[in-house]
Amino acid sequence: MLYDAIILGAGAAGLMCARVAAGRGLAIALVDHAPQAGGKIPISGGGKANFTNKIMGKEYFYGADPSFCTYALERFSPSDMLHLLKGWGIAWEERTHGQLFCKQSASQLTNHLVDDVRRNNAAFFFKRSILSCRPSPQAFVLETDHEILQARQVVLALGSPAWPQMGASDLGARLARSLGQKLSPFRPVLSPLHMPQGWSLQGLAGISLPVRICTGAQCFEDDLLITHQGISGPAALKASIAWQAGQPVFIDFMPQISFSHLLDTPECGKLLARNLLCRYMPQRLSEALLPPELAQRKVAELSRVQRNALHACVHAHSLSPCGAAGMKKAEACLGGVRTEGIDQYTMESLQREGLFIVGELLDITGLLGGYNLHWAWASGFVAGQSLRPRV
Ligand SMILES: Cc1cc2nc3c(=O)[nH]c(=O)nc-3n(C[C@H](O)[C@H](O)[C@H](O)COP(=O)(O)OP(=O)(O)OC[C@H]3O[C@@H](n4cnc5c(N)ncnc54)[C@H](O)[C@@H]3O)c2cc1C
Repeated sequence: MLYDAIILGAGAAGLMCARVAAGRGLAIALVDHAPQAGGKIPISGGGKANFTNKIMGKEYFYGADPSFCTYALERFSPSDMLHLLKGWGIAWEERTHGQLFCKQSASQLTNHLVDDVRRNNAAFFFKRSILSCRPSPQAFVLETDHEILQARQVVLALGSPAWPQMGASDLGARLARSLGQKLSPFRPVLSPLHMPQGWSLQGLAGISLPVRICTGAQCFEDDLLITHQGISGPAALKASIAWQAGQPVFIDFMPQISFSHLLDTPECGKLLARNLLCRYMPQRLSEALLPPELAQRKVAELSRVQRNALHACVHAHSLSPCGAAGMKKAEACLGGVRTEGIDQYTMESLQREGLFIVGELLDITGLLGGYNLHWAWASGFVAGQSLRPRV
């Protein structure tokens, strides 16, 4: 049988693409090495999938050209995704920063997508090792360890190598390169940052609090978790996308209140500086932040220079990460298939007719907060609309 399109990868992007294309009547095959569909959907958002964000725009995306995603985000918006969830009867909830999560299991999303795809007669080929994908004059020929499939068009929806324990691999990048696409190297991001031995907050594992974290020219406000190895939690994961090896990160541990202002408040004059800070954060953390010789002094006795020094300790605490946690702890990768070789209005290759690339495999990476799943839905949707039916 000659399919209209073979979609390689049955994760978020591949399923959305299949749903739309099969819904238009195209003959679709989905091929994956996993035993079932869904890719990383079931583990996303702690099992509840932060499936989109109410606040959407290219400024939440990274890559050589983030504006590449603008058209897809307009074609398939957060409201479009919510419309789908409503139709499927899936309840959702809004959390901080506009993040939308399923109220129950993320697998509901996969199940409804798969049902829609099956209802439109697409064929699933699971537990397949993909051996090659070659263009021939009339069709693309896909060789797996079970069969040879042919289609007029191919969609690469194979994701990035982040979180390999869920079956992620770099096959998509290798196939794209073999079919003529240019690549930027993958770099694991949205991961914890590791600190060297003896770092300033060592021994404080388990403390979690809202912070403002800055690296390079970028700042993020969210919750930070101090761990045995370094820093984690949404704030650190967000910072990891902007962090470059060798750069420091600066943490403001009281983003909402100025410590200088508190130090200048007459009623606080009789307190020890450390006791004043303890009112706003765990004692162990306040002790680690303030130099002992100043921490023990009464606020009223501190000079202006000393007050400024204490302010800096709390609002611009410098850390020098020794590395990011790596692929096994990364929720996404920077890099992938370079977007200058792809048509942003269709997701089709500009080099090779009939080749489409979607999702995290492209050099578009979203910030933590539902942006990566939304990119998978939006790019999959656009490709699903753009695949050509036979004439
Ligand atoms: C722990 C974790 C939590 C996350 N939480 C969120 C979140 O809450 N919100 C959010 O927006 N994003 C989240 N993400 C990111 C998000 O899950 C991904 O960006 C998104 O799923 C990418 O979709 P995709 O379809 O492009 O790729 P994937 O979902 O990775 O799908 C790729 C598919 O290709 C298949 N495949 C891969 N290699 C091969 C191969 N060699 N042969 C055959 N098949 C192969 C895989 O089995 C998979 O089915 C999270 C990621 C992780 C790891």
